[in-house]
Amino acid sequence: MLEEIVEPLLSWYRRNKRELPWRTEPTPYHVWVSEIMLQQTRVEAVKGYYARFLEALPGVPELADCPQEKLLKLWEGLGYYNRVKNMQKAAIKIRESYGGEMPGDYEKILSLPGIGSYTAGAIASIAFKIPKPAVDGNVLRVIARITEEPEDILKQKTKRKIEDMLEEIMPAACPGEFNQSLMELGATVCMPNGPARCQVCPVKDFCLAKAHEKVVEYPKKAPKKARRIEEKTVLILQNDREYAIHKRPPGGLLAGLYELPNLEGYRSREEILSYVEELGLTPLYISGAGEAKHIFSHVEWRMKGYLIRIAATEEKKIGELIFADKEEAKGKYPIPSAFSAYRKYIEEDF
Ligand code: SF4
Repeated sequence: MLEEIVEPLLSWYRRNKRELPWRTEPTPYHVWVSEIMLQQTRVEAVKGYYARFLEALPGVPELADCPQEKLLKLWEGLGYYNRVKNMQKAAIKIRESYGGEMPGDYEKILSLPGIGSYTAGAIASIAFKIPKPAVDGNVLRVIARITEEPEDILKQKTKRKIEDMLEEIMPAACPGEFNQSLMELGATVCMPNGPARCQVCPVKDFCLAKAHEKVVEYPKKAPKKARRIEEKTVLILQNDREYAIHKRPPGGLLAGLYELPNLEGYRSREEILSYVEELGLTPLYISGAGEAKHIFSHVEWRMKGYLIRIAATEEKKIGELIFADKEEAKGKYPIPSAFSAYRKYIEEDF
């Protein structure tokens, strides 16, 4: 019976939980910001982003009013920029519809832009003590192992089934702690990579996969489709102490962010030099800047970079290119981490 896990998990969590900044004062806004960040990055990395974000945008009104470029800059390095754009849309809706306060109602939280059942469950249970589950990949894995769930956990149907099972056993007095205990178990004991630490697991006596020595067989997942490979030639165009950047289109991958100019496919040096001339610039020399790879959820970029020094120009903008100095590249323009292998050229002194 799944409800047997509740008490041992809670007492284990109270003794073993990690001290995390968003746990000290779990307001709806704090839980919201931390949960969105934690969906994409490890706990240790999130701490710095979280502190910086809250310092700049301490609450819903500041988030609603933040200029988009500053917002994207605060999110730089976290990836999945649509998530922070949706957070801003949600903040605007909270101000317009709920007087600036996150509503203490699961369905209303769930209806906000960018908030799915996991985040809604986390905010509702942790900040408002509403008995709703918060089922992410960690929790799916833990429950799939405990119950030997035979279905693919990536299917919505399986997720809903696990949400329903957990909703039935939610402790009314402390649903937030219960959800966090499951997340914590998934993050520190019943882990995805490498062996689960079943010997120290507080629910090992109730775990079917452990009893049948089949932990490695769960959770069940259908094989993922291969990612599409895109080859790119990345240009680091140096104009004295400035470098060219370019704004990406308003829709699609990395929408609205800034990037180093790049061309589809791998290009020869001759092709690159004639392209630079077509832009109205005069290339003086070209040298290789190395290869790099960046993995998105469905696409993988394989990049070859080139540093091209051009004859000095006073223009700050040529066509769609903007020339930014080191400080502007660091502080003003959000440049996604897909280009991190080449950032040293534009952000450091040589
Ligand atoms: S006993 Fe092992 S497999 Fe089962 S929940 Fe605990 S750590 Fe996971």
